[in-house]
Amino acid sequence: MSHKLVIIGSGPAGHTAAIYAARANLKPVMYEGFMAGGIAAGGQLTTTTDVENFPGFPEGIDGTKLTELFRAQSIKYGTTIHTQTITKVDFSKRPFRLWSDDEIIEADAVIIATGATAKRMNVIGEDQYWQKGISACAVCDGALPIYRNKDLAVIGGGDSAVEEASHLTKFATKVYLIHRRDQLRASKIMANRAETHPKIEILWNTVVEEAKGNGNQLSSLMIKNINNDSQKELAVGGLFYAIGHKPNTDIFVGQLELDETGYIKTVPGTTRTNIEGVYAAGDVQDRIYRQAVTAAGSGCMAALEAERWLESREG
Ligand code: FAD
Repeated sequence: MSHKLVIIGSGPAGHTAAIYAARANLKPVMYEGFMAGGIAAGGQLTTTTDVENFPGFPEGIDGTKLTELFRAQSIKYGTTIHTQTITKVDFSKRPFRLWSDDEIIEADAVIIATGATAKRMNVIGEDQYWQKGISACAVCDGALPIYRNKDLAVIGGGDSAVEEASHLTKFATKVYLIHRRDQLRASKIMANRAETHPKIEILWNTVVEEAKGNGNQLSSLMIKNINNDSQKELAVGGLFYAIGHKPNTDIFVGQLELDETGYIKTVPGTTRTNIEGVYAAGDVQDRIYRQAVTAAGSGCMAALEAERWLESREG
């Protein structure tokens, strides 16, 4: 099958690109993935409950519901959606070629919106308390009522862990920054911010072994000091992972320029990759903001850039 524009991925970036491209009569075809990167079609928002910072929903909206609305809007304006994962690509010549489980697809232009997956620790109790006290995004979830006026914990030692911990101090009574080493990986200025913040206590050489609660809500963590193996129970109402993200770019290795952590490199201020006709939008190329609305914004950019590029070739 040959298409003008193929979109890989189905989070806010992919669907915004699809809506714009469909309205521009590009007849976009989206491969939304089937548990690609370990996440359901619809993307990371399917792993959360209340989204309170996406404009248009003053009461907040359930993350999965929001992705269903994105999908309905893409289809309404003419996007064809396949529930398949793209497993291989060849961007070395045009038309570009993409492989899914049962077909080879050709495309004049491609928008990559495969997102990223927040790393998890897989501690005991994590699945039970995921989104019931455990999250991987303090900026997204920290202001939710379940986390307010409670002691909270962040796991991590880099700049983003310090940023997440500082952000949580606005809502929490206290924030424990749990780090397995005896010094932070964060830059000096960020480390100093954590070490001197009156509401942050750093628990050095410490790992979390278990998340505990009443079945519906996290209430404590079993933590262990790895220097002396001593264990203790730490009462917290929330646990935030800040141990990094893995961009879903394995299939683009050797095809596109990626940075040292695997994010797709784009020309600053655009969604253009190093291959003409291939665009990247959303978290797969954004290691800084990683929000639904910024992903959607860059999806819009990718569609407009692809449209102009396709037109310039026709004209
Ligand atoms: P993603 O949402 O990551 O979606 C990418 C999709 O592409 C996935 O469905 C994946 O399965 C699919 N895919 C991957 N590889 C392939 C492939 N090879 N073929 C086909 N499909 C593929 N942001 C907010 O603004 N507000 C919030 O309240 C909020 N809460 C969050 C809570 C949590 C727990 C997490 C983890 C994130 C939260 N975020 C929130 C962040 C937000 O979800 C992301 O920034 C946003 O979803 C990124 O959108 P995206 O389109 O780039 O990709």
